[in-house]
Amino acid sequence: MQRHNEPSSALSQAAYERERLENLHPASWHNPQPAARYNLVVIGAGPAGLAAARGAVGLGAKVALIERNLLGGDCLNVGCVP
Ligand SMILES: Cc1cc2nc3c(=O)[nH]c(=O)nc-3n(C[C@H](O)[C@H](O)[C@H](O)COP(=O)(O)OP(=O)(O)OC[C@H]3O[C@@H](n4cnc5c(N)ncnc54)[C@H](O)[C@@H]3O)c2cc1C
Repeated sequence: MQRHNEPSSALSQAAYERERLENLHPASWHNPQPAARYNLVVIGAGPAGLAAARGAVGLGAKVALIERNLLGGDCLNVGCVP
């Protein structure tokens, strides 16, 4: 059985980590030009912010979602999932 800290495990962990960061904060990301008005501005793209933004967009609102770090917040990045 392979141990968690063996080299191939570390390599696959690094590949996973690269893919995770590329999904949550793509290197090619550029902030969009802000619109003049929004119906809702959500600060923080953790589970609460993502749900609020998605729900509002589903109702037809124009939404700005502002995140200073990684999409997904604590739950996806440090808490529930990793
Ligand atoms: C170690 C750990 C383990 C956990 N395990 C579980 C679990 O197993 N099951 C479970 O249900 N819950 C778990 N939780 C709790 C879960 O992570 C939180 O309930 C959940 O993340 C809260 O979501 P949130 O959107 O309110 O806040 P957060 O996830 O904290 O997201 C807030 C976001 O706002 C951003 N932000 C903050 N201030 C600003 C600003 N001024 N400008 C721009 N962006 C900003 C942050 O960068 C972050 O991305 C765990 C938490 C931790 C810390």
